[in-house]
Amino acid sequence: MQKILNYVNGQWVEPQGVESVEVINPATGETRAHTPLSRTAEVEAAVQAAAAAFPAWRRTPVQERIQPLFRLRDLLKTNMAEISRAITDESGKTFEEAKAEMVRAIENVEVACGMPMLLKGEISEDIAPGIDEMMIRQPLGVVATIAPFNFPGMIPFWYLPYAVATGNTYIVKPSEKVPGAMQIIFRLIEQAGFPPGVLNMVNGAREAVDALLDHPTVRAITFVGSSNVAKYVYSRAAANGKRVQAQGGAKNPVIVMPDADMEMAVKIIADSAFGCAGQRCLAVSWAVTVGEARNEFCEGICEAAATRKVGYGMEEGVQMGAVISQQSKARIEQLITLGASEGASVPVDGRGTVIPGYERGSFVRPTILMDMKPESAVWRTEIFGPVLGLMHVNTIDEAIALANAQSYGNQASLFTSSGAAARKFRYEVEAGNIGINIGVAAPMAFYPFSGWKESFYGDMHAQGMDAVEFFTQKKVIVERWPKEWTRKF
Ligand code: NAD
Repeated sequence: MQKILNYVNGQWVEPQGVESVEVINPATGETRAHTPLSRTAEVEAAVQAAAAAFPAWRRTPVQERIQPLFRLRDLLKTNMAEISRAITDESGKTFEEAKAEMVRAIENVEVACGMPMLLKGEISEDIAPGIDEMMIRQPLGVVATIAPFNFPGMIPFWYLPYAVATGNTYIVKPSEKVPGAMQIIFRLIEQAGFPPGVLNMVNGAREAVDALLDHPTVRAITFVGSSNVAKYVYSRAAANGKRVQAQGGAKNPVIVMPDADMEMAVKIIADSAFGCAGQRCLAVSWAVTVGEARNEFCEGICEAAATRKVGYGMEEGVQMGAVISQQSKARIEQLITLGASEGASVPVDGRGTVIPGYERGSFVRPTILMDMKPESAVWRTEIFGPVLGLMHVNTIDEAIALANAQSYGNQASLFTSSGAAARKFRYEVEAGNIGINIGVAAPMAFYPFSGWKESFYGDMHAQGMDAVEFFTQKKVIVERWPKEWTRKF
């Protein structure tokens, strides 16, 4: 069984005398490891290490700070299969999905390797005669990330490379449900040659999170997870005077217009709703058809849901893996039952799924909730499983109004062949990531991951220039050097 360790000050450390949680392969039901639930003392050690490493790291020229990131990028590429296997065996997603996740992680390292360019300041000469004004960006100090279970390899990379390239020192607390990928990644971080204390990892859950949120030396917190915890993290860290961004849950709509390419729409929406077993914050979780789109789309999507191959994510040909746990399976099944009791029909029903050979696995087959009601609780609730709700309206205005009535605003998509409809949608819809004929509108590393409403608490987002802004503080300098002084030399 794998031992899960912390990584502090360039050393692997085993937290002593702490409780642990079992890490289970959701496809096989086998126990893989136990995550130690680090206490405040372990967080304290990591913060001290990061704080001690900060002065020298911030003085290291940015061109030198990115050299270990270049090496890390290559190491991530060459070790992608091992990391992806750990992701599949802990999160349940397929091996192909896990590898695609790591491609996204690597892209963030690549963008952060451009930090010498991204970090440049600004200068204005002669804002008054002989006086210049400039703006420079300086790092904050010790910064930390609290990560969710569903992208164990990628989500820390929305922050980690930018944080250290801008001169901060960093602590990550992975999800206690999926610690394996970051164990491998920190082995690579060790090989990449970061000075001790620049990158640290503390495993744990609530106590470790609270210790980070309360520690006066931690200057900024990034969080990704469910909205309730996002709000909690945002409030507590902000009350402690920290800079904070907290990405929360989602309930992403897709509107299907009658002029959409129906074959393409069905395929892409099925991939979005059922890919990663619906455990993606950008998964489409309800589709609203407009006018005549209804029959063809509903028939197609029911067929796509019913025929998706479900199983252990390491097996060839499997299109959808397990959900994270038995508790999650039970919760998803309860929400399907709730939807049915609120008036939806269930033409494709994934409750009670058992995969032969994997009887202890946490599987839920793709499910369709037909004619989900806008007043229903299931329409407002993030299911985070392979369940697609279907609704129907007569106009695009009604569809956009419905989308905007959701409290979340992570992503919204439209399928159409009309430029005018696309423009109207893009203009009016209240969500931060928009897909036009796209099912998972995941921003590339050089764009912000831009959730809105209850999907995001904060100002600056993950990735790209937002990450550079988030991990630096601006200093503005006004300078006078009287020219008469020149004569003294
Ligand atoms: P979660 O909120 O349960 O856990 C996230 C992190 O918070 C974990 O590290 C966990 O240890 C910690 N945590 C949990 N409860 C806590 C508490 N009470 N106090 C302090 N810390 C706590 O989320 P999850 O189940 O791991 O991830 C799934 C959720 O993440 C979904 O809601 C999904 O939509 C969301 N998500 C959002 C995005 C985004 O970009 N908006 C991306 C991925 C996942």
